[in-house]
Amino acid sequence: SNQKPTNFIHQIIEDDIKNNVNEGKVVTRFPPEPNGYLHIGHAKAICLNFGTAEKYQGVCNLRFDDTNPEKESQEYIDSIISDINWLGYQWAGDIRYTSSYFDQLYDWAVHLIKNGNAYVCDLSSEQAREYRGNFTQPGKDSPYRNRSVAENLSLFERMKNAEFKEGACSLRAKIDMSAPNMNLRDPMIYRILHTSHHQTGNKWCIYPIYDFAHGQSDAVEGVTHSICTLEFEDHRPLYDWFIEHLPVPAKPKQYEFSRLELNYTITSKRKLKQLVDDQVVAAWNDPRMPTISGLRRRGYTPKSLRQFCDMIGVTRSNGVVDMGMLESAIREDLDSSAPRAMCVTRPLKVTLTNIEEGVEEWFELPAHPKDDTMGVRRVGLTRNLLIEQEDFIEVKPIAKNKHEKWKRLATGDAVRLRGAYVITCNEVIKNDAGEVIELLCTYDPATKGANPEGYKPNGVIHWVSEELSVPCEVRMYDRLFTEANPDGDKERSFMEFLNPESLVVLTDSRIESSVKGAAAETRYQFERMGYFCIDVDSSAEKLVVNRTVTLRDSWAK
Ligand code: ATP
Ligand code: MG
Ligand code: MG
Repeated sequence: SNQKPTNFIHQIIEDDIKNNVNEGKVVTRFPPEPNGYLHIGHAKAICLNFGTAEKYQGVCNLRFDDTNPEKESQEYIDSIISDINWLGYQWAGDIRYTSSYFDQLYDWAVHLIKNGNAYVCDLSSEQAREYRGNFTQPGKDSPYRNRSVAENLSLFERMKNAEFKEGACSLRAKIDMSAPNMNLRDPMIYRILHTSHHQTGNKWCIYPIYDFAHGQSDAVEGVTHSICTLEFEDHRPLYDWFIEHLPVPAKPKQYEFSRLELNYTITSKRKLKQLVDDQVVAAWNDPRMPTISGLRRRGYTPKSLRQFCDMIGVTRSNGVVDMGMLESAIREDLDSSAPRAMCVTRPLKVTLTNIEEGVEEWFELPAHPKDDTMGVRRVGLTRNLLIEQEDFIEVKPIAKNKHEKWKRLATGDAVRLRGAYVITCNEVIKNDAGEVIELLCTYDPATKGANPEGYKPNGVIHWVSEELSVPCEVRMYDRLFTEANPDGDKERSFMEFLNPESLVVLTDSRIESSVKGAAAETRYQFERMGYFCIDVDSSAEKLVVNRTVTLRDSWAK
C-alpha cells in the first residue's frame, strides 16, 4: 500500500529501501541482557524488531547481550527464548551471544590502542568520576592518558592475563574530556571482573562495556537498523565513533524509540526482581507480574500482546500507557475466541424440591453466543444446585428506578437459570449464626427457553449442578498496585503501594462439567464473572483457574 506508516522506524526503513541503502536489506536484532525475565516493555521491542524484519522481508537476530556475567544466568536465557517463541517470533539462524564475539572485541580494543585511540587508566572509579566533570564543567585529562602505545598494549594484555585486581585499571577510549556529551569523555571500554561467565567459563577476566560491545556486535552480524530505547540517544555519537575508528565489516545505524511504560505496574527488571526476591509475588511468572510469562499464565494470548503493541505505536515521545488498554486488548480477543461456561465462585446451595434426587436433565447451550462454529456444550440440571451467594438477597431493596432494580433472586421471587428454567425461592434455611445456607426452590417446567405470558423473573443468573460440577480453586487476580504511578513518589518505595487484594483465592468454587479435564492455558468466559484460564497448578481432582480480566473495566474513572 502507499499509506504512510505511523511507525516512524518504518518510515526510515522505507526511505532506506527506496534509496537502496544496504542494498535494500533489513537486518534487525533483539538484544536482551539475560539478567531477568522479559516484561511487557520487551514485548514492544520484540514486536518492533521481529515485526519490522517480517514486514520488509528482512531478518531479525536474537542476541544475548551478555557482558555482565555477575547478573546473568542460564535460567534467564531459557525463559527469554521461550517467551519469544510463545509470542510467535522466530529469529534468523542460530541464537547469538555477544560473548561469542569476545575474541573479536578484544582484537578491536587492541586496534584502538595501536592507533592511539585507547589507553589503560589506573584511576579508581571514584577518581575517574571526579576527572570526568559534569554538564557544566569540562573534565580533566587522566594522568595516564598519554601512556605510549607499547605500554598500553602490554598493560592491556596483562589485564587480560589476570595480573590485576578488579578496579585496579581499565581500558578507556581516548576521545575528548571536554566534550559536551559526557559519553565521549574517554568512556571505559573494558573492565576487570574476576567472575566466570555462563557462556565462556573462566576464559576471560576482562569484559567489554555495553557501549563498546553493542555496535560492534551489530556490525559483525550485519545489522542494518539497530533499534533501541531513547535513553541511548546520547550514546549514539559513541556508537558511531567506534564504528568509524574500527575496521568493522558493516556500518550499522542506531535508532531510538520511546520505552513503554504502563500505569499500575512496573517495567524495570531490577524492580521486578525485587518483587520476586522479597516474595511479594510467587515467581517471575506470577500472574500479577507484567512479565511475558506472567501475562501468559494470567491468560493473555500472544495475539492480544501483539495487538496491544500495535495499538500503542512506535514514537519518540515518552508517555505512560493506561493498563486499561492492555486489558481491553485481551478482553477483545477473548470475547470472540473464548468458549463460555458457568462457574460459581462463592456457592450457595439451592434445592429444587420438585425434582427427584438422581434425576438429570441435560441442556445443550452454545459454546459461544455469536459463533456457531464453536459448537455446543452440555450442561446438566439436578435437584441440588449451586448459585453465587451474591445472586441472592433475603429482602429485595426498594428500587428508585429501573436501573437499580434487583435482577437476581430474592425470597418469594423468581429468577431465570441461564439456559434452563425459571425458579422461585420458597424458603430460606439459615444456620445457628443466622447465615443463609440453603434455598428451597421450585422450577417451572413451562419456562424452558422462554417465559410464558405474564411471567416476570427478575433476571438471569448462572448456576451449576452440585453433583455434576467440577470442584475448582479460583484465583481472583487484580492489579498489583493501587497507585497509577507506584514508582513516582520520591519519599516512598513502590513496595508501599502494593494492592492487598491483588490476589483473592476462592477454594470452594465449582465449574460446569464441560470444563472437566481442560488443559492448562485453556481460556473461558465464565458467564457474568469475567475471563479465566486454566492454571498449571490444576490436578485431576481439582482445577485451578486464574481470572485474566473482568468483563468490564472496573478501574475506569
Ligand atoms: P530493564 O530496564 O527492564 O532492565 P533493559 O533495557 O535493561 O530493561 P534489555 O534486556 O537490555 O533490558 O532490553 C532488551 C531490549 O528491550 C533493548 O533493546 C531495550 O531497549 C528493550 N526494552 C527494554 N525495556 C523496554 C521498554 N519498557 N519498552 C520498550 N523497549 C524496551
Ligand atoms: Mg539493556
Ligand atoms: Mg537493565
